[in-house]
Amino acid sequence: MKQMDIKSLVNYVALKILGGSDYILEALEKYLVKGEGPATVAYEYQISKHQLRGYAQRIIEKSGSEGRAKKILPIIKGISKDVKPIVKRTDGDLYYCTLCNTSIPKEDTEEHVRKYHKEILTSTIKTMLERLEEYKKEKQAVILTSVS
Ligand SMILES: [Zn+2]
Repeated sequence: MKQMDIKSLVNYVALKILGGSDYILEALEKYLVKGEGPATVAYEYQISKHQLRGYAQRIIEKSGSEGRAKKILPIIKGISKDVKPIVKRTDGDLYYCTLCNTSIPKEDTEEHVRKYHKEILTSTIKTMLERLEEYKKEKQAVILTSVS
């Protein structure tokens, strides 16, 4: 079985959220964890079914398996809940950067974050990984307490 690549997973999610796809975890939770139909979920977030499946595929790959993806998704959602997008989607498919006040083509939003807001991306990833460590410690503490 493949290993979970947690850094790559956090990296992927952080970039998605900062780049304006901040619905991704909610959408994937509905689709993968709760098992809602792809058409319904895609419609709700105004993305294509193809996109939704693509996101799911990436998350599953980075998690190592679908089972692990289902477990890690709610945790990732928890540790990223206060991460706010830098690039926002306005009506239709127009995106603009709230820091630069410029509009950006949809396909360039993540590249924009990587190129011009690298510090924010780096610190977001760092914060998320730290929270994940805290979460692991807490979990372990609970397990230890219940054993003793
Ligand atoms: Zn910008």
